[in-house]
Amino acid sequence: MELKLYDTYERKLRPFGSLESGRAGLYACGPTVYDYAHIGNLRTYLFGDTLRRVLAMNGYEVAHVINITDVGHLTSDGDTGEDKMEKGSRRTRQSAWEIAEFYTKAFEQDLAHLHILAPTVWARATDHIPEQIAFIAEIERKGFSYRTADGIYFDTQRLDRYGHLARLNIAGQQAGHRVDIGDKRSLTDFALWKFSGAEQRQMEWDSPWGRGFPGWHIECSAMSTRYLGALFDIHIGGEDHISVHHSNEIAQHEACHDHPPARYWLHGAFLKLEGGDKMSKSDGGFLRLATLMERGFDPMAYRYLVLSAHYRSPLAFSWDALDAAQTALGRLRQAYYRLPAEGQPDPAYKEAMLAELNHDLNTAKALALMWEVLKSSLPGDVQKATISWLDQTLGLNLDRWVPAAHTVPQAVQALIAARDLARSEKRWADADSLRAHIEAEGFAVRDTAAGTVAEPR
Ligand code: AMP
Ligand code: ZN
Repeated sequence: MELKLYDTYERKLRPFGSLESGRAGLYACGPTVYDYAHIGNLRTYLFGDTLRRVLAMNGYEVAHVINITDVGHLTSDGDTGEDKMEKGSRRTRQSAWEIAEFYTKAFEQDLAHLHILAPTVWARATDHIPEQIAFIAEIERKGFSYRTADGIYFDTQRLDRYGHLARLNIAGQQAGHRVDIGDKRSLTDFALWKFSGAEQRQMEWDSPWGRGFPGWHIECSAMSTRYLGALFDIHIGGEDHISVHHSNEIAQHEACHDHPPARYWLHGAFLKLEGGDKMSKSDGGFLRLATLMERGFDPMAYRYLVLSAHYRSPLAFSWDALDAAQTALGRLRQAYYRLPAEGQPDPAYKEAMLAELNHDLNTAKALALMWEVLKSSLPGDVQKATISWLDQTLGLNLDRWVPAAHTVPQAVQALIAARDLARSEKRWADADSLRAHIEAEGFAVRDTAAGTVAEPR
């Protein structure tokens, strides 16, 4: 069952094949850590997680890089305004470095709550300043940059293909624009390096062009190249990145390498608020995962809601929709829990489910098949094994769920965590002795794809 993905660059569904057999390189543009992530951002990371799991299901070992933007993202995507980090620092009265650390941790926690797999590499922009300076120097050497009073800019007019990803109508934009472009030669030109200027910044570095900080787009070019090579398989992000950020990443890369950095470009559609309002960090009034949890929702209910829509379709968030997702998930968990274990997945359903996932990640249809399995006349153990197989990709963590009455005490949870660690490190004797401990506490131990599950005896 061939994996097909919708490539924004080519504007079509394309069969996926990786550069290196059995391995796939995936780069996801990460958060700007001047504030918490909102649930819209998290929709995009759920989409990335689904893609990663589908790749794994297809036998690929995935090198998954997420960057942390902790410098250089200005309040306007057009290279004007303030650095979001410095602004966040003033708002919170903490240093830019402290808030970067704080919101990075908060973001990692959100991912863990949603059962999103941690990337194989977290890449922090401020940890890669020399790589960014080297990338800019190469762009300069190839003749694609120029200097203005406030920085070094990329000359987009030098690149015939500029804006192909977004099918930008450059001529139309140029003719129609009324905004002040300052010293830039062209509206679409963008900063590679900005000078610090008169104002003292918390985050600034020396460079061949003067003291300052990198433009926002260069970090992804430098870090994707560093971790995945000058050409890698898939680059993803939210749909807002198409017209500016990814167009500029491609431009930077083409200037140095004559080709875009990635072979496939996938973009997730936005989460909107009911009534069509945009959810954005800078406009304020956004919903965090913690807000959902404070209102009594399980983070997995949000995951279920997101999976029930195709990643390329806009999704309108409402409390009613989340409530319905939580109810459906509750039913699914109960039904799954009651089914007997130890069966084998049904081959026909497995094939049908994989076909849906491989058709540009159709999680909504895969979920529908999950329910169909539960209503089918297949033996209970086969139903359970089939659903468990699918859940490796949907990530609802069904194997870990137990009814509230069966809640596992903290002490036993700690033993479970220790046993999973021992197993992952192949310390079998330790794992066996931990099993005995858990059993002594009155729990039966079952090994599942998701790790140890303990059930009261
Ligand atoms: P940011 O932290 O603003 O750089 O955004 C992090 C990621 O979230 C990017 O991939 C954005 O494209 C994505 N994103 C931003 N707003 C939304 C939204 N409302 N729905 C889905 N994804 C979003
Ligand atoms: Zn990026």
